Amino acid sequence: MTHTTVPAYAAPSAKAPLERITIQRREPGEHDVLIEIKYAGICHSDIHTVRGEWGDDGHFPLAPGHEIAGVVTATGSGVTRYQVGDRVGVGCFVDSCRECDNCKAGLQQYCTGELGNVGTYGATGRDGEITQGGYSTHVVVDENYVLRIPDSIPLDRAAPLLCAGITLYSPLAHWQAGPGKKVAIVGLGGLGHMGVKIAHAMGAEVTVLSQSLRKQADGLRLGADHFYATSDPATFAELAGGFDLIVNTVSADVDINAYLGLLKSGGTLVQVGAPENPQQVASFALITRRLSLAGSMIGGIPETQEMLDFCGEHGIGADIELIRAEQINEAYERVLASDVRYRFVIDAATI
Ligand SMILES: [Zn+2]
Ligand SMILES: [Zn+2]
Repeated sequence: MTHTTVPAYAAPSAKAPLERITIQRREPGEHDVLIEIKYAGICHSDIHTVRGEWGDDGHFPLAPGHEIAGVVTATGSGVTRYQVGDRVGVGCFVDSCRECDNCKAGLQQYCTGELGNVGTYGATGRDGEITQGGYSTHVVVDENYVLRIPDSIPLDRAAPLLCAGITLYSPLAHWQAGPGKKVAIVGLGGLGHMGVKIAHAMGAEVTVLSQSLRKQADGLRLGADHFYATSDPATFAELAGGFDLIVNTVSADVDINAYLGLLKSGGTLVQVGAPENPQQVASFALITRRLSLAGSMIGGIPETQEMLDFCGEHGIGADIELIRAEQINEAYERVLASDVRYRFVIDAATI
């Protein structure tokens, strides 16, 4: 297989700062598209992965990035979905087994086949090579794992939709956020701010539950109807039994039982963040009010396209801070300090 050498920002080893290196991209195969990357969002997962915090030995050097927006610059001979010049995105995975029940149902994120869903970076692809992510100038992806970005969404603001956007859209759509539904979004970071925008556009009554009232003005501007501080115990008393759906975007340990108390009977609490420690859940709270405690992870290819089309129709993009590639390490520190409104996006022209 022939390859092309392209520049990338990568961690040479676990915990090392990212630096400019070159990586190899395969030549587009029959069903591949070559994408010139314009922008790549910085997701918290990128930081966990390059710091070796997810219990993986990792594959270094590793270029992270799974919020990719760009333009098609070449297509394989068998490509039917995309043409040169199309505005496209790539999210958290670039392949999957395509044969298991979940893949057949378009739920590739939950692939149970041997290949599994192939992460956009740091995973072993069908060809046996380790995938490299979007902090780069080009990427080659099978057309079946490429998304179309509507013209109405600027590419820089579209990039974070490919992970943060779909991570919130999928549970909001699955548990039917919409008119007449009261939805709470816990945490107003990169994920939470997308949740507020999308739930509001779906027609739900949206409440932000944030640690403090520091981001209240932002939350209301993004589309929230109400904003409460979870550091204030009165919040949990005042809002008890009030929500049909709560989506928790916080990865830190929180008191799950306190949030279950905010659900109406029959309500659902969905975890999209992954706290490090197991949670204690009082089954009595679930039983006595038929509550559901659920989880959700990104979305499949059809639903991700549905999300992009929805965002295109509703004029939704991420709120971003555009940075140059040499600012990536500094941006990581700011993400860890929750000092970003609300997603850093790398201008790939600076890589
Ligand atoms: Zn992500
Ligand atoms: Zn599968």
